[in-house]
Amino acid sequence: MAQRGHFIPVSHPVLDGNEKLYVGECLDTGWLSANGRFVPLFESAFASYCGTMHAVATSSGTAALHLALLALGVGPGDEVLVPTLTYVATANAVRYCGATPVFVDSEWQTWNIDPSAIEARISAKTRGIIVVHLYGHPADMDPILEIARRHGLFVLEDAAQAHGAQYKGRRVGGLGDAGIFSFFGNKLITTGEGGMIVTSREEVAERARWLRGQGMDPTRHYWFPVIGFNYRMTNLQAAVGLAQLERIEARLAERRQVAQWYERYLDRFEHLLQRPSCQPWARHTFWLYSVLLDRSVAIDRDEIMHALRWRGIETRPVFYPVHTMPPYRSANCSLPVAEAIASRGISLPTHSLLTEDQVRYVCEVLIAACAGGARTRAVSP
Ligand SMILES: *Cc1c(COP(=O)(O)O)cnc(C)c1O
Repeated sequence: MAQRGHFIPVSHPVLDGNEKLYVGECLDTGWLSANGRFVPLFESAFASYCGTMHAVATSSGTAALHLALLALGVGPGDEVLVPTLTYVATANAVRYCGATPVFVDSEWQTWNIDPSAIEARISAKTRGIIVVHLYGHPADMDPILEIARRHGLFVLEDAAQAHGAQYKGRRVGGLGDAGIFSFFGNKLITTGEGGMIVTSREEVAERARWLRGQGMDPTRHYWFPVIGFNYRMTNLQAAVGLAQLERIEARLAERRQVAQWYERYLDRFEHLLQRPSCQPWARHTFWLYSVLLDRSVAIDRDEIMHALRWRGIETRPVFYPVHTMPPYRSANCSLPVAEAIASRGISLPTHSLLTEDQVRYVCEVLIAACAGGARTRAVSP
């Protein structure tokens, strides 16, 4: 148990490729801001990775969401369907457009948006559906795309947690009208802060590109016909991003290995913990390996996380459903599956630098904490 006494974080970036070389070029040439050569290089490499015609690099994943929604025509009075079990940025971006997020419950298998719960939430104001590939497991896109087609809605994939994930053999991001990614430091690949919109719809890419740069008229420099944003990615960020993308398959393989270790050491404890499921049509990227406490575990989820922290292991609660947060409570809905998952879910350390010993240690501490709770309840009246 060599790792006892060391802190084990949930996430850790790996910067072992051409990052220094490319950033060095930015410093040497003075091209630090958004006009350097790495921005278009990163964009075209990322577009081809996702199988889309276009990619638009942004200052963050949140900026990518906001720009993508604007480019898809979302505005005041519109409604956009959003899974409630997601990072809050997904819903916030809808609000930035003056539109209203309408929350949809999860399905039990993958925790993603439940396709069978979508149609009941569609109204005359609905413009589109944001699909989140939660923790790296793709959502079931075919039924969602079919519903969207039938109702004339756009589908925007929030793939911020799912770089390289595949749905029926195709990479996520390019499956709907547009997709977005985040390159925050804890994501699968990183640029520190950063994001990307991918799409094969030329007018969507063009509009996003235009609004990203303050909305400047492309043919009349320093003429601004609309109110745009500064959502540009810098050359420094793109230099790191390009180097990260070159090594993405190694990162994905390392995460798959970590997930296999978790499977091995949690395998005999199904009565305490439900492990993440992987559908036969999915390539899960395990952004975070997240487990669900069994109902028989009497110890509170937060107490179990506390016990792990005492033993030097960082964990994260599964996302609190967005409809339960103060700014969104007026939505006043009950989405029981997401609420149940959120109250009993824990995300475990998942990154490329973990060793098998560390994963075994995390599992031992976790099982001991859960088993204590299960026993307590078994002997209490
Ligand atoms: C990380 C994340 C975002 C936001 O990305 P930032 O780069 O942090 O702005 C959006 N949606 C989801 C699902 C995320 O996980």
